[in-house]
Amino acid sequence: MRIPLSRAHVTAEMKTAVLAAIDSGRFILGPETRAFEEEFAAAIGTTHAVAVGNGTAAIQLTLLALGVGPGQEVLVPAHTAFPTVEAVFETGATPVFVDIDSTYTVSPADLEAKITPRTVGMIPVNLYGHPVDVAAMRRIADARGLFWIEDTCQSHGAKSGGRTIGSFGDAGAFSFYPSKNLTVFGDGGMVTTNRDDLVRKIRQLRDHGRSDKYTHEVVGYNMRFNEIQAAVGRIQLRHLGQYARRRRELARGYTEGLRGVVQTPPEPRDGEAVFHLYVIQTDRRDALADHLKEHGIETGVHYPLPNHRQPATLGRISPPPPALPETERIVPRILSLPMFYELSDGERDEVVGRVREFFGKA
Ligand SMILES: *Cc1c(COP(=O)(O)O)cnc(C)c1O
Repeated sequence: MRIPLSRAHVTAEMKTAVLAAIDSGRFILGPETRAFEEEFAAAIGTTHAVAVGNGTAAIQLTLLALGVGPGQEVLVPAHTAFPTVEAVFETGATPVFVDIDSTYTVSPADLEAKITPRTVGMIPVNLYGHPVDVAAMRRIADARGLFWIEDTCQSHGAKSGGRTIGSFGDAGAFSFYPSKNLTVFGDGGMVTTNRDDLVRKIRQLRDHGRSDKYTHEVVGYNMRFNEIQAAVGRIQLRHLGQYARRRRELARGYTEGLRGVVQTPPEPRDGEAVFHLYVIQTDRRDALADHLKEHGIETGVHYPLPNHRQPATLGRISPPPPALPETERIVPRILSLPMFYELSDGERDEVVGRVREFFGKA
């Protein structure tokens, strides 16, 4: 595809840092990783950050550190990447699916309606780079005594009320998968938190449950972080503000060009979205995607099969979870347009032109 959906930002400085990490002879959980953790915590505004193998591990290890297990329920949106839900299943707990509202993030009303005596916490997802309704989440978590993990795998640097997403809940979970807003040229993830108890447990769980080199206090995992990845992440982190500004600028241009042609994304009430994805809605979604593909423009659907209807979910939850009207209404209508830091204004305008052409509004 001439204009891809997404592309990682790679610079000569990052390549040099990779070579230096190799020459250091330290490959796992060394000084680069510790520096990346400290700088990441400072950027998000938490006292701690713990680097782990990927974003799914960030959620899963946080759940385990919170003591989540069989017989408990965790509230999650159905409209998210499957890993959000997978992490809950991995602990033995049951995901309870919540509908979204017009922001594509969890509906506070449906979230509250789905609470039962077995509910222990919630994982609202800051989807597409859009912050959830932080005030509502805080109110519900406090009033009902629930933990709150912010799935921020798509929203590095997004803000609400002047504060950075990932600093509000018990913990924030980040992914550095190559398509995400901050990447490390491979898999990687991070937990941000102000809770000392969680930090200690997550550090232990990510490294075989060790308390020292030869003592394994609990059964853990290998979900560690690599020095090469940390070296890249530290440089990308310094660019994060610039990445976010550029994505917002690209989104503004898309919205200006497409207003009245398709349904454009919402803007946060009191915050800043970072547009991991730029998602439009139209009832001619598939035909539009084909038209763009014919002109060398890649698009995506995030996500075509909601998680309460996934075979893996239906294999574990019976009877099947109830319908989620808003999620099911938008799924056949959503389309993600190309969005990444290096997308040029010209390329963006070409995408806009092709969409307008398709609708006879060139
Ligand atoms: C990418 C992503 C994850 C999982 O991250 P990985 O690093 O791929 O494990 C979880 N939740 C959301 C919303 C994501 O976009």
